[in-house]
Amino acid sequence: QEDQFKKVISHAKEYGFIFQSSEIYDGLSAVYDYGQNGTELKKNIRNYWWKAMVQLNDNIVGIDAAIFMHPTTWKASGHVDAFNDPLIDNKDSKKRYRADVLIEDHVAKIEGKIEKEVKKAAKRFGEAFDKQQFLETNPRVVKYQEDAQAILKRMGKSLEEENLADVKALIEELEITCPVSGSRNWTDVKQFNLMFGTQIGASADSSTQVYLRPETAQGIFVNFLNVQKTGRMKIPFGIAQTGKAFRNEIVARQFIFRQREFEQMEMQFFVQPGSQKKWYEEWKEKRMLWHLSLGMGEDNYRFHDHEKLAHYADAAADIEFRFPFGFKELEGIHSRTDFDLSSHEEYSGKKLQYFDPESKESYVPYVVETSIGLDRMFLAVFSNSLQEEELEEGNSRTVLRLPAVLAPFKVAILPLLKRDGLPELAKEIVDDLKWDMAVTYDEKDAVGRRYRRQDANGTPFCITVDHQSLEDKTVTIRHRDSMKQERVALSDIKAIILQEVAV
Ligand code: ATP
Repeated sequence: QEDQFKKVISHAKEYGFIFQSSEIYDGLSAVYDYGQNGTELKKNIRNYWWKAMVQLNDNIVGIDAAIFMHPTTWKASGHVDAFNDPLIDNKDSKKRYRADVLIEDHVAKIEGKIEKEVKKAAKRFGEAFDKQQFLETNPRVVKYQEDAQAILKRMGKSLEEENLADVKALIEELEITCPVSGSRNWTDVKQFNLMFGTQIGASADSSTQVYLRPETAQGIFVNFLNVQKTGRMKIPFGIAQTGKAFRNEIVARQFIFRQREFEQMEMQFFVQPGSQKKWYEEWKEKRMLWHLSLGMGEDNYRFHDHEKLAHYADAAADIEFRFPFGFKELEGIHSRTDFDLSSHEEYSGKKLQYFDPESKESYVPYVVETSIGLDRMFLAVFSNSLQEEELEEGNSRTVLRLPAVLAPFKVAILPLLKRDGLPELAKEIVDDLKWDMAVTYDEKDAVGRRYRRQDANGTPFCITVDHQSLEDKTVTIRHRDSMKQERVALSDIKAIILQEVAV
């Protein structure tokens, strides 16, 4: 697993998907730049989300709010007082940890033990193996599961009650029974606010402390009435937004999974109080279907329903994805009640209510939110698609089996030779296709190597132009996944490709 993750990171760099930020200065921790291929993939993921949320729903509209917001926004949202993560330092190693993540790593280790037992038993029992029954009856596995649950429960309770001494005690106990960090000597646990602050305004005495937004959601809440009134929106309706968010994460690790600057894709759905449960269930299902529509394997997703809820939520679940380092949160679906709008009403002194034309009553709507990290989605897609494939005669290839709709380039046009008019015809094809899809052109090296290069970039189709093409207007189309090649009429290629790659 660790090896696979290393491959993901080096492939992302080698093929122009993701670079360390400011690399020539040795980088900036937990900040990344997207390269020429990564930018296309990221944009395609964003568009795929936007299309599903905004374009296909006549009651959802999109906005693009500013990153800077009035500082009182973050008082009202609770971020100034409570957007904290528990931090713990190890005195020996001088390493800093996020206490809850460290505890979750312990739990992941236990889950790893369970998986090992399952694999062992599956091998022993062969076809007769019943996983569910095994999980429920094997004493050792049952004990592991109970341990994991007890740890998470205790952590949840301690954090909720702000009992930081117990969080520390829990870490100390776990490091003895099942070491993760290998360290014993801990400081107390402290709360650390994750918002980045800066100054707006030129002179020292007139400047105001502002924050880089830690989530995009608040830009939607403060614009709720603007959009509702100008768009004549009727409840239930949603507002969607994609954009940058910033968090001073305590521990930078796991590549783009946890960054200090990242992008969110959020949608706030405004509903009548009392109907939130129904909408919450509906959005949970819809969002899972969105993920499954990409065809990356049902087994790679699972729901994690939260038992411990944030003070503003009456239900919450994560969609978790099987990343190279295990199942982790990819998206959150939260039923946020009227917490945000009511709080903004209170702090701003402005009414944020919806007038229901049928009942002739005004009320503060409830909100069901879906929130997904674009970069995390990128990592999910990218890591899941990267495969090392054994071919005949001891050969192998690296192929990035991206869902075609997300691939940076849909087709590569390759003249077989750099002469005899082949590049000219190939460029004509590029000029014809580029209005409808992202096309790339490559004339360097033998065609076999060019195919491999496109496999590694995730390009689903290659079109090769040869001498026969000049005579009969046919070309070879090669499919990335099957490596099958077929001869098709030039006039058919656009339709063939668009059928596979259209959003
Ligand atoms: P975590 O528990 O992993 O820190 P969170 O529960 O704080 O995440 P939310 O506040 O619910 O996350 O944010 C919604 C989504 O934004 C997450 O599901 C995740 O995909 C993404 N996200 C949050 N923090 C980061 C980050 N530091 N880097 C990249 N994506 C992030």
